Amino acid sequence: MSGYSPLIRELIDALQCLPGVGPKSAQRMALFLLEKNRQGGKAIANSLLKTLERIGNCAYCRTLTEDKICSICQNPHRDQTFLCIVETPADMLAIEKTCSFKGKYFVLLGRLSPLDGIGPDDLGLEQLQQVLINSQVNEVILATNWTVEGEATAQYLTDWIKTKFNNIIVTRIAHGVPIGGELEYVDGGTLAQAINRRSRTED
Ligand code: ZN
Repeated sequence: MSGYSPLIRELIDALQCLPGVGPKSAQRMALFLLEKNRQGGKAIANSLLKTLERIGNCAYCRTLTEDKICSICQNPHRDQTFLCIVETPADMLAIEKTCSFKGKYFVLLGRLSPLDGIGPDDLGLEQLQQVLINSQVNEVILATNWTVEGEATAQYLTDWIKTKFNNIIVTRIAHGVPIGGELEYVDGGTLAQAINRRSRTED
């Protein structure tokens, strides 16, 4: 990227923190904003600053929100007896879009991944324990991805929940979701079926 002024080079480097954006696309985006759409660039910059400053995690389910408690957790019409555990806020949104689940959520904000140094302590289990103690959850639905790591996470959570809360039923979403598939990219019908056909997890 030689030839550009330090500021432009800085912008091109910064854009590469986005997933799927390499040097070439970063350069295209930076030059597009500077040459053709400075207004759009300002809108992105303002919105980024505002969201980065104000968006935090829901005190109950850990999803991303600018409120202390997110709108789903605040909704008195959600069924308090079902808790669906997902890996990411995007997975939670994917399930919400199917309109097939009326309970509440808990977002792990990750998955067990020993290679990346992500252990149980990084998945908010202390908060999950508080949620399970202070609520009327009868059934926990494990909706982690059907990947090796998602499966390992589901197995770990099954053991963890059954040890601590032997009155709570633990179920796993059905194999409507392709093996190795990520929830976020599964179509709504398949995902809705996976939730409806969930089954109890093995000990
Ligand atoms: Zn919430």
